[in-house]
Amino acid sequence: MRNISEKKRVVIKLGTSTLAHKTGKLNIRRMTNLVRVISDLHNAGREIIMVSSGAVGLGAGKLGLPEKPKQTNIKQAVAAIGQCELMHVYDDMFAKYSVTVAQILLTKAIIDNQSHCANFKTAVETLVGMGVIPIVNENDTIAIDELELEIGENDSLSALVAELSGADLLLILSDIDGLYTDDPRTNPDAEPIHVVEEITPEIERVAGGAGTSLGTGGMSTKINAAKIATEAGIDMVIMNGKDPEKLYDLFEDAEIGTIFKAKKLSN
Ligand code: GLU
Repeated sequence: MRNISEKKRVVIKLGTSTLAHKTGKLNIRRMTNLVRVISDLHNAGREIIMVSSGAVGLGAGKLGLPEKPKQTNIKQAVAAIGQCELMHVYDDMFAKYSVTVAQILLTKAIIDNQSHCANFKTAVETLVGMGVIPIVNENDTIAIDELELEIGENDSLSALVAELSGADLLLILSDIDGLYTDDPRTNPDAEPIHVVEEITPEIERVAGGAGTSLGTGGMSTKINAAKIATEAGIDMVIMNGKDPEKLYDLFEDAEIGTIFKAKKLSN
């Protein structure tokens, strides 16, 4: 039996493949539906914190680039353009339901620095207390891979955010229904795995694979996120973000996606 219905503070991670078309332009129908359902969950009393990708993807889409830029300074610029677009869209869409959102941008250095990290926690707590939905992303304009300043993908970032914000559920919305015994895009016999009690080497093996042309994460980064979350005592669910109405079913404990069960913490 799942106990998702009891979860109060939920981090919801949206990947670029969920919120944008392959062109990098916004998936308006998907986003409209997602924002409506998330607003409703929020109105029902859940404390929602979002981690949203899309800065680089939407920036590339806005500039008409065919794929994510590889050159660092261009990526910095594209992320700055796309992050602005992303938050404009969220602000506008959530306003329809009178839900206020706020932007928080993180870097690895902020998370690694005790007092900066404490500032993040305070900000989240204050915003959630005000009934606001914080929307977190990595600060891709400042976090540079070559200088090892980058986390680089939002699956792991969302798990860190879940840990730092004291969430009791991390929900990763993806373009795949959950974890399978093999890659369902190439193997029609692949079977869904509904519950992962423990992340074994076998689970890591079946989770190999890459992401999309505009997003960054694949299933392996989701397993990394699951390790961070479950070790912090937080359940994690991966489900397909293509049909936002299914979120209602998830929160009524329907068997949707894959749940990675939290480790029992000793204290
Ligand atoms: N922070 C990146 C962005 O907003 C996304 C990283 C990822 O795709 O996981 O574009």
